[in-house]
Amino acid sequence: MSKKRTHPIVELTNQRADGFVPSYRRTVRTVLLRQYQKAANLIRDGYADPIPWGANQRWAAQLQTTQQMPLMRIAYDGTQMGALHLKQTSIEEVLSEQKYSRGLRWPTKDKFLLPGTRAAVDEYLLATSNMETLTSIKRIKRIFDTASTEPVKVFDREGNPVIDSATGVQAVRGLKTSEIADLLEHYGLADTAWRANLIARTCSVWGMNEGAQQRYEAMGVPAKKWSTTMDDIACPFCREMDGVIIRIKDDFLAPGAELQVQEGKGEDAKIRKLRIHEGLAVRHPTLHPHCRCGMIPIVDKRQI
Ligand SMILES: [Zn+2]
Repeated sequence: MSKKRTHPIVELTNQRADGFVPSYRRTVRTVLLRQYQKAANLIRDGYADPIPWGANQRWAAQLQTTQQMPLMRIAYDGTQMGALHLKQTSIEEVLSEQKYSRGLRWPTKDKFLLPGTRAAVDEYLLATSNMETLTSIKRIKRIFDTASTEPVKVFDREGNPVIDSATGVQAVRGLKTSEIADLLEHYGLADTAWRANLIARTCSVWGMNEGAQQRYEAMGVPAKKWSTTMDDIACPFCREMDGVIIRIKDDFLAPGAELQVQEGKGEDAKIRKLRIHEGLAVRHPTLHPHCRCGMIPIVDKRQI
């Protein structure tokens, strides 16, 4: 039997975060598809450069705004979970809370956000999601480049070339939406659900941890411990972080820090490096896309 490595608090936090993923993913996916659709329409209408001026920044901003509200709700839920963690006297009590209702909902009774949540959410999305979006846009741009350098020649119903009266050569047109769709598929971009899923999953786990972090701070918990999940046990970086205890307000890793781990021993030893975003301190998990790590509150000062 394998040794159980995931702390019940972290497991519960992840289960809660998973509850948010479907609606979060749907929201993100809707925006990504709207952006693809807009570009596809411009191509169909014959625009040579279907990426409108300034679209990179605008689309990134759109995606960021869309993600912000779900993430704030998830962070809020994390603060509730944080309170729950601190109230528990036994593991059984924590586990019994798995019946806790799921899904996105606006809080009504309690104060919506602890101070600093919004700033933390902004900081996280700026440091991470923008990069995601810019990568998508670069890939889309590649498709448009292909589409615009390979215009489709126009034929009439009998199959004869249609001559452009202005130029005297065979007319060309932009791609139809269905043809763009074929290209998106050809370049492996049709599956935007994957990208949306990555954002939703990672942000949900991050958001729950952010909420817990804020609740621990507010309630005077002196320290926190990184707890790596079974999902992440194969990741050398998360394995390295497992069990690290620091003071509650400290960062596990500073912005731009480089985490180095050694894999193997002797002559086969290899050094692997993970570089943290310049704009983001790792105050709590997540560490990388798809990271499922959590943290647990340390209330006994002797453990620090
Ligand atoms: Zn991890």
